[in-house]
Amino acid sequence: MAPVLYIIIPCYNEEAVLPQTAPMFLDKIRDLAGKGKIAEASRILFVNDGSRDRTWQIIEDLAAQDEHFLGIAQSRNRGHQNAVLAGLMESMDRCDITISIDCDGQDDINAMDQMVDAYLDGCEIVYGVRAARDTDTFFKRFTAQTFYKLLNRMGAEVVYNHADYRLMSSRALHELAKFKEVNLYLRGMVPLVGFKSTTVAYDRRERLAGESHYPLSKMITLAVDGITSLSVKPIRIITVTGLLISLVSFIGIIWALVAALSGHSVPGWASLACIVCFMGGIQSMFMGVIGEYIGKIYMETKERPRYIISERTPGMEEAHDA
Ligand code: UDP
Ligand code: MG
Repeated sequence: MAPVLYIIIPCYNEEAVLPQTAPMFLDKIRDLAGKGKIAEASRILFVNDGSRDRTWQIIEDLAAQDEHFLGIAQSRNRGHQNAVLAGLMESMDRCDITISIDCDGQDDINAMDQMVDAYLDGCEIVYGVRAARDTDTFFKRFTAQTFYKLLNRMGAEVVYNHADYRLMSSRALHELAKFKEVNLYLRGMVPLVGFKSTTVAYDRRERLAGESHYPLSKMITLAVDGITSLSVKPIRIITVTGLLISLVSFIGIIWALVAALSGHSVPGWASLACIVCFMGGIQSMFMGVIGEYIGKIYMETKERPRYIISERTPGMEEAHDA
């Protein structure tokens, strides 16, 4: 029997683009169902991430117009990753496969055909990877590439050029649900789930309307979160650097002692000040990195909910909480 597909779409202040892209998603579902690749019961689930504009009204209207559209709303803005997780967890018991995709039309929805084919071939997870980054500004391309390199160097295994456009089977999602962390970095967590997986290349276009919600500051936060939630390598780097600095200091101390004993010592205010500043700087930086991890531990021990649903469109009502 053809699998039931749920397309999970996080939306944050997307009133400009949603009316354009929603019909495209619907066409895709109809097209796939028409080809017999997915079941008629397949749905499009919008996750409103605490938008301040008319996004939720638009979602409610869509749900009223066509039964293929469903919606849930987070009680406030929690960020893209939590919105995607909310959608995935809420749908994993209702469908056989999910595909998460942004709502701005940037990711080519035609790649869904290949994703579903790969699932029908036995893959549990299919990563959408960007074929080229021509449409990005040089700045976005450069920062994104640096980000992937940094992540991999730091020991977090991520699929190159994969954002959150991916197919996951219900089975893989049930395993993902066991990852209880509150600091989410799905791109790093999903590969840890394992199972048979593959990649599908797609073209990424420019946003159809509206503006990006990922300014540099959010990208940096995502990078730091990615590294610190997936790897303890920075701590190890600190330890090694600390050891090296201690070694250099030790040599410096011997040198100072020898100089003093042989009567060559001068009033060394400058060198002393340099050392004090240097050590002060290095130490506060290191404490900062360690603080990052302690902060993470603190947040994780609270075991706060990772998402809170405040509203649901009719078809999404009886879902159980993850
Ligand atoms: N998004 C969200 N919560 C946020 C920010 C973004 O749900 O706090 C959604 C947004 O509506 C879009 C997706 O995440 O569907 C990707 O965001 P955006 O297109 O702004 O980022 P970019 O593609 O520029 O990296
Ligand atoms: Mg976008």
